[in-house]
Amino acid sequence: MKTPTQTNAIDFDSAKLQRLGFGQPSLLPRRPVTLTQLRQQLGMQLQTSLEPERILAVFFREIQRLVPLDALKYRHDASDLRLEFGHRGHHSVSYSLSHEGEHLGELIFRRNQRLAEEELSQLESLLATLLYPMRNALLYRAATRSALRDPLTETGNRIAMDQTLQREIDMARRHLSPLSLLMLDIDHFKVINDTYGHTAGDNVLRAVAGAIKGQLRNVDMVFRFGGEEFLILLSNTGREAAAMVGERLRQAAQVQDYWADGTRIELTVSLGCSTLLAAESAESLLRRADSALYVAKREGRNRLAMAG
Ligand code: GH3
Ligand code: MG
Ligand code: MG
Repeated sequence: MKTPTQTNAIDFDSAKLQRLGFGQPSLLPRRPVTLTQLRQQLGMQLQTSLEPERILAVFFREIQRLVPLDALKYRHDASDLRLEFGHRGHHSVSYSLSHEGEHLGELIFRRNQRLAEEELSQLESLLATLLYPMRNALLYRAATRSALRDPLTETGNRIAMDQTLQREIDMARRHLSPLSLLMLDIDHFKVINDTYGHTAGDNVLRAVAGAIKGQLRNVDMVFRFGGEEFLILLSNTGREAAAMVGERLRQAAQVQDYWADGTRIELTVSLGCSTLLAAESAESLLRRADSALYVAKREGRNRLAMAG
């Protein structure tokens, strides 16, 4: 894989290494189009969306009228965005997109056949059509994401949770796949606030959120539910597997280092777990996790309880 360049200029050196060789194009263009025509068409088409996924999907599809490709990969670390279209190809060329000093992500084109010099220069010319649409899409994404996030803990907020929970329930129904929910509450959190103050409490909240996220592949499914309560959605996860995840979270929260005023604080969490029943509502699924959490508290805290 090539090292991306730091500017929107393409990495010509790596591009040159990939060249040489020729072969059958893997896809036939839908109809003949010139570079100029394609640039104009793309310029208009790409402006019609604010979704990075959609913009890049259209870009990937349309540029193949001129330059057949096997795959396109995109990543923008600052917005935690990784997208992939098509399948892997042996050869790759990567470009770093930027606009007025603002990094707009890295693009990797892949193809089994090497890309010819002519094709590379066409690709480079077409990349320019992505700049404004991607910049706008990333700005829009940042704005909508911040409306859905809890700034203290960098987890989803209640609005995000409501949306995601309903979406995941619908998906679980459609695909007949299991869905579980963990409700996690910090034990005796009030004592930390009372002893060390609110700021120390905030730091602990952040650290607990970090410990939770560190255990999960999909951090988009962690939400701050209330003051010191978190909700974790586990798609495609049945009761037993959810119990294992819950136990892992409990341990991770316990071994995490928490500090206030130079003192190490011992801290534990309790969890309640529920798994979606046939025809169950979001409210009921939440209520059952909450009841299980209550049981975990009552039975001594620092434990996980399963909903009946
Ligand atoms: P339990 O083990 O039963 O859960 O006890 P607890 O003390 O954790 O529960 P309780 O509900 O009595 O107290 C929760 C505390 O969380 C009270 C509230 O001041 C604190 N809290 C809620 N939101 C925040 C926040 O954003 N920052 C800080 N520092 N504290 C918060
Ligand atoms: Mg609580
Ligand atoms: Mg608590």
